[in-house]
Amino acid sequence: MLLLWSIHSRALLCAGLQKKMKIYRPHRATDEELLEFHSAEYLNFLKRCTPETVNIYSQEYRRFIAGDDCPIFEGVYQYCQSYAGGSIEGAFKLINNEADIAINWSGGLHHARKEEASGFCYVNDIVLATLELLKYYPRVLYIDIDIHHGDGVQDAFYSTDRVMCVSFHKYGGGFFPGTGDLDELGMGRGKYYSVNVPLMDGVDDRTYVDLFKHVIGEVMAFYRPSCIVFQSGADSLQCDRLGCFNLTLKVHLTHVASVFSAYREILLCWIRCRVMLPASDM
Ligand SMILES: [Zn+2]
Repeated sequence: MLLLWSIHSRALLCAGLQKKMKIYRPHRATDEELLEFHSAEYLNFLKRCTPETVNIYSQEYRRFIAGDDCPIFEGVYQYCQSYAGGSIEGAFKLINNEADIAINWSGGLHHARKEEASGFCYVNDIVLATLELLKYYPRVLYIDIDIHHGDGVQDAFYSTDRVMCVSFHKYGGGFFPGTGDLDELGMGRGKYYSVNVPLMDGVDDRTYVDLFKHVIGEVMAFYRPSCIVFQSGADSLQCDRLGCFNLTLKVHLTHVASVFSAYREILLCWIRCRVMLPASDM
């Protein structure tokens, strides 16, 4: 487990759970590992482009970078290698039976596509880790509770039945990324293996947990996954600067975890923490 400072890790430390966990230093994802999903052209761009050379790479920048959320900064490629390496290493821990639950606190960058950076996400560590899991497990269930739709992961596995993607997110009113409506169900062999739960502003703990239990219960009974990849985006918590839900940390740490423990022994958990709360709220 890789622990970084975050609201989740702080709550976890307060609960004393770190005594039951092992902390690992993951390897940086190699070029070969990143090429399992991303294109060589895109990775070369991330590797070579710097803040000083953005103008030189303006054509590639327009092609590979969507919107204004993904600026090129010094060491962006090494950053990608670090967080992707954490998720890939987590997959290896599960595959090698070295852990039942692996957590990458800096993972969960679900908007990145094969050759497109989007929504603060440059490479998609979730897709990369899931591809590793699929080499050993027949079926992977992906659950995403980030306030934003998990569009990059859904797109990557839209036409396969070996990954079932379930996303709970805010939808409508131009909210980013603008996808994740009920009728996005998958295609070809993947038809009915994408499940979207679009929600409105202000959803609270009770409504969310009831909905989550019902949807995930049905999905578990139908799909019987070999393992689970769980993107626990902290921006669905109340007071997040980008979010608009009214969920407390209790939902993330207790309710959702208890639902999973009732169904599976193996849980792969990715936490993406972007929430910023004043100290008095911690
Ligand atoms: Zn988000």
